[in-house]
Amino acid sequence: MSALMLGVDIGTTSTKAVMFTVDGGIVAQHAVEYPLLTPVPGAAEQDPQQIFDAVLTAIRVTVARAAVEVPDIAARLAGVSFSAAMHSVIAVDAAGTPLTRSITWMDSRAVDWARRLRDEFGGHQIYLRTGTPIHPMSPLAKLLWLKHEQPDLFRRAARFVGIKEYVLFRLFGRWVVDHSIASATGLFNLVALDWDAGALDLLGLGADRLSTPVATTFILDGLAADIARSLGLRPGTPFIVGANDGVLSNLGLGAIQPGQVAVTIGTSGAMRTVIDTPRTDPSGRTFCYALTARHWVIGGPVNNGGIIFRWVRDELAASETETAKRLGIDPYAVLTRIAERVPAGCEGLIFHPYLAGERAPLWNADLRGSYFGLAMHHHKEHMIRAVLEGVIFNLYSILPAVESLIGPTRRIMATGGFARSRLWRQMMADVFNREVTVPQSIESSCLGAAVLGLLALGRIPSLDVVSDMVGSVHEHQPIPGNVQVYSRLWPIFEALPRKLEQEYREITRFQRDPSSPAGLASPEEQNA
Ligand code: ADP
Repeated sequence: MSALMLGVDIGTTSTKAVMFTVDGGIVAQHAVEYPLLTPVPGAAEQDPQQIFDAVLTAIRVTVARAAVEVPDIAARLAGVSFSAAMHSVIAVDAAGTPLTRSITWMDSRAVDWARRLRDEFGGHQIYLRTGTPIHPMSPLAKLLWLKHEQPDLFRRAARFVGIKEYVLFRLFGRWVVDHSIASATGLFNLVALDWDAGALDLLGLGADRLSTPVATTFILDGLAADIARSLGLRPGTPFIVGANDGVLSNLGLGAIQPGQVAVTIGTSGAMRTVIDTPRTDPSGRTFCYALTARHWVIGGPVNNGGIIFRWVRDELAASETETAKRLGIDPYAVLTRIAERVPAGCEGLIFHPYLAGERAPLWNADLRGSYFGLAMHHHKEHMIRAVLEGVIFNLYSILPAVESLIGPTRRIMATGGFARSRLWRQMMADVFNREVTVPQSIESSCLGAAVLGLLALGRIPSLDVVSDMVGSVHEHQPIPGNVQVYSRLWPIFEALPRKLEQEYREITRFQRDPSSPAGLASPEEQNA
């Protein structure tokens, strides 16, 4: 048997390890979950030690499982390569001991500092150089928040690192950060491929308090013999630093050619496409993260993906859901069947899915959901279908920003829980008016990490071989009649949020404090 590669993805809910053959076959896998800690409102933290232990366990169990199938597994394993969630921050002391938990991308406590960053500290210029949108998710905003709201901690910390840096430090005793994770900090200059002087100045932070940036194909060796043994690995097994989970998901889906767009709708959603040089958006709508020096991933994340369908399941369709459960049928399958009873366009009903505010492309936390166009002829099936259509319209609304940077796109590669529904996949083809394929996406970030690792070790000639590793499971062509319907509704969907900015602000103010007088939003709130 030829070489094997282990891809490890340090995610927000779990760490997954998958061992692949060079042609993309899965030999063994294991995932270890951990909790998200929310001790105070807005906090979303994780315990670094728990994640380190999860990484070791995921590797050890996967290697042990593979050993059952493959004799002499340690000798055959070419290397271990890493993917990790973006935007995490851990303050550590000089010995590398954490002074904080890992503050994840979901943590929103830096919201006021993100706003000040944008409005007072030239955040947009920093975005143009660093590619990370100005948002509380970004380490730049989090560090600004820590500096001002926990100054003692900020001073005391020897370094600020992300979760992957912490794990690799525990294994190799070196602080390195791959260009990909670095490019999602808001502190990394995409052209210089180094920490951005302007961002560091704003924080009063020296580069010596951050990890050393290295290419995503950088190889760490010298794993301590006792750790290697405990994991079932050879001591010399190379570890490849790898990239972030978003860019590696594109690679693992085989969506790295010009014109190919990966659209994910899981709990949240995202659109991503690969270009060959870094590019940011004059209007600040898209991110730009590194995969390799010649592969950059641009796109946008959305909050309101499949979670909105879950809200419908639980809040609008509780009785249908109960019945489905009693009959042992997936409630989502029942609801999509109900939605199929009405035609595309819901006979003039539109749903704006902004129940969780929104990131790309509007980047406005005050947006709120609404039905528009409700009339007496609308029934529950219209209301369900309109939600599915609204989620797709919302993702489609990122496409103009992406195309303004890279030109026309051809093909959509769709992934995430939504792709279990034939109706929802077809809707994507019809709204986007493009062919939609669903690649085999079992742990695409792990596969992406493994492929990048194989490239780093010279086992494959280029990343392009990934297209031979990924099969596709569904294909949908746009249905012309539906395309026409959606192209008539699209301008209405798109225009409304821009017209309602003031009203969104008022309603969120009311939600926060129903007793506050109307029409007197403070300047800060007006910029929220
Ligand atoms: P995560 O992003 O948390 O990994 P998934 O990718 O599994 O989650 O996506 C979960 C979402 O997928 C659910 O919230 C739901 O909207 C959608 N979903 C799951 N199953 C189905 C189905 N059978 N039909 C339509 N949508 C589904």
